[in-house]
Amino acid sequence: MNEFSRKLLLSGYSHQERYNAIKGSIVRYNQMKADVKSGKISGLYRHKNQILRSKLDKKSWANTWFLKGEVSGTMSCQATPNGELSKAIQKAVNSDRKSGHKLQVLEDGGQSVVASLKTSDPFRQDGCIFGDRNCIVKPNQRCDQSGVVYRITCNECSQEIHETYNYVGFTRTSVHARMAGHLKLQNAKNSTGALYRHDLEVHNGDPQGYTTEVLGKEKKILRLYTLEAKHMEKQTPGLSMNDRQESSRRGGIVRLSANKES
Ligand SMILES: [Zn+2]
Ligand SMILES: [Zn+2]
Repeated sequence: MNEFSRKLLLSGYSHQERYNAIKGSIVRYNQMKADVKSGKISGLYRHKNQILRSKLDKKSWANTWFLKGEVSGTMSCQATPNGELSKAIQKAVNSDRKSGHKLQVLEDGGQSVVASLKTSDPFRQDGCIFGDRNCIVKPNQRCDQSGVVYRITCNECSQEIHETYNYVGFTRTSVHARMAGHLKLQNAKNSTGALYRHDLEVHNGDPQGYTTEVLGKEKKILRLYTLEAKHMEKQTPGLSMNDRQESSRRGGIVRLSANKES
């Protein structure tokens, strides 16, 4: 929950919005715990078999193909070339999920996120906005963007660099500044930095070249996390369609309820 709040903060959500989101979650969670106690619902989370069974009971034929195997739900994101964004999100949201609880990320149709990342200045030359030759941000992307999600890759082995447990990074400052920070740690051979750590672990400490790609706007990604939370709510038992609409109307972001399984 703290981690989620931090992400909301990083995404520029106001104190009030964060407060509402977290408070709504707690209220919802306590309500559900009370319902479990009183026997109204059987548990906080529902196994896919229960979902399938209740689907049969209700004679509802919504699409549940994804409930097979290790995937327990889906979420959607904007389409990007080669499904880059969906792959990245999929990895990020599944990093701490057990098999059987994974989420399948599906691409929406429509305009690609990357389309809006391309420079609108036709005279801009590729390369670092600040003229820094060491800048590792992809030359055709603006490195002065902030509030974005990015991915760092090792040029030599094409391995993605994990800054934390997350596959992708989030930045509030410019990507350029964030990468300059990473490079500084790498040059100082400081193993708290993800780049030097990779140099050490995979390349015997030889300094490697890295490339950073901006994947999308951070607020869009937050929307995806929210979609995920909404999906989790759909899996909570004892809620009819109407109940759901009720609670959505009443609480706005109350949907963030069962955001984290643990
Ligand atoms: Zn730059
Ligand atoms: Zn490497």
